[in-house]
Amino acid sequence: MSEPLKENTPKVERTAKPLRLLGVKGMNDILPPESARWEWLEGQVRELMGRYAYRNVRLPIVEPTALFVRGLGEVTDIVEKEMYSFEDRLNGEQLTLRPEGTAGLVRAVVEHNLLYEGGKRLYYIGPMFRHERPQRGRYRQFHQVGAEVLGFGGPEVDAELILLANDLWKVLGLKDVRLELNSLGQPAERQAHRTALIAHLEKHSDVLDEEAKRRLHSNPLRILDTKNPAMHGVVEAAPRLLDFLDEASLSHLNAVKAILDANGVAYNINPRLVRGMDYYNLTVFEFITTSLGSQGTICGGGRYDYLIEQVGGKPSPAVGWALGVERVLELIKEQGEAMPDLAPDVYAIIPETAALPVAMQVLQSLRACGVSVQMHAANGTSMGSMKSQFKKADASGARFALVFGGEELARGLVAVKSLRDGAGDQRTEPLNTVAAWAHSLQSAL
Ligand code: ATP
Ligand code: MG
Repeated sequence: MSEPLKENTPKVERTAKPLRLLGVKGMNDILPPESARWEWLEGQVRELMGRYAYRNVRLPIVEPTALFVRGLGEVTDIVEKEMYSFEDRLNGEQLTLRPEGTAGLVRAVVEHNLLYEGGKRLYYIGPMFRHERPQRGRYRQFHQVGAEVLGFGGPEVDAELILLANDLWKVLGLKDVRLELNSLGQPAERQAHRTALIAHLEKHSDVLDEEAKRRLHSNPLRILDTKNPAMHGVVEAAPRLLDFLDEASLSHLNAVKAILDANGVAYNINPRLVRGMDYYNLTVFEFITTSLGSQGTICGGGRYDYLIEQVGGKPSPAVGWALGVERVLELIKEQGEAMPDLAPDVYAIIPETAALPVAMQVLQSLRACGVSVQMHAANGTSMGSMKSQFKKADASGARFALVFGGEELARGLVAVKSLRDGAGDQRTEPLNTVAAWAHSLQSAL
């Protein structure tokens, strides 16, 4: 016989230890002051995307598992071992936390028939999930900015996307980023190359590692992407896909190169650059830095003319890239770029609780004028000593303290004290003409 429900409910004793849980490994909390750097970067991205007339999309973080299996390819690192996939307990649907943004974007474009009236230039910013070994620059929840152009097949949009990324490095102040470029050609050219590649790899099967052997017939191109130094020689000597490209593919690549040349964007043609996903064709590229150790790829992309059709849309060409926000921020830090200043303009010192209503009214007027204000807050009925309030004001980094002392308030005034430049300088301002003096407190001036 079952016990009454009440009996099953654990009694919460006063002495019961509070439950203390940690976050999931490889998934980070982004807290102040670090979060200010994120907001700053996102602001720069939005501004630049606007200048190129790319429009923002916000898509679900969970998609049907089949979308990624079909879209990315079954024999890829992501689908083979990195996806967070689960079954919805309530309806049995097979779902996956998105490991990248392109497949979901293409799904949305097809679902909403977005290409009906012509091509689209889109971008997204958001978290992605991959079950990898966490290390510097590699996390299980990480963030990408992605830019995608759908419905245009010409090399000029490939080049436009590269110029956009290159401009982003400029506005973010990044140095030491190099561009690697390659062409994966078209399916028929890849097929011919593949046959030659398999023959070459089979001849050297003694040096292939387990993963390479497994991929020899399913995805031999990916073997060229190996990080195993023991296979370097055999990969180096492998037949090059570039040598199998026909005239149309070569002229596409040359057109991209000509636009980059004309715009002074340096690149290195890297015949071994293949990228992780199956969906690429023609142009592929990566932006790489040597300043971040082995996690040096900050951005990767390419053309994916067959993906839209693959997920059920009307055949349409497309091209895009995605950058890793954590790696880009790390690089900014590495290169010693200035951090955005989080300090408020003003710290409000309020000696007595009786002054709170009037003081807070003044602070509201200041905020309405665009001044950032941190108000002193206490833990009980007293506001705390002047000494402790000034200590907090200094620690806040504010340039000014406003002191709402009883005597000044009675005369309709507030004291303004410099905390940084000319520390100690003091003046008074009238409470009823805030707008007239507010701007003098803003550090932006
Ligand atoms: P890698 O070879 O480093 O695993 P990738 O080819 O898997 O990269 P993409 O799928 O092309 O990476 O993703 C684009 C960008 O996203 C990468 O260039 C990188 O900056 C970033 N990125 C990818 N995986 C992670 C991760 N686990 N943690 C942080 N950033 C990542
Ligand atoms: Mg990877």
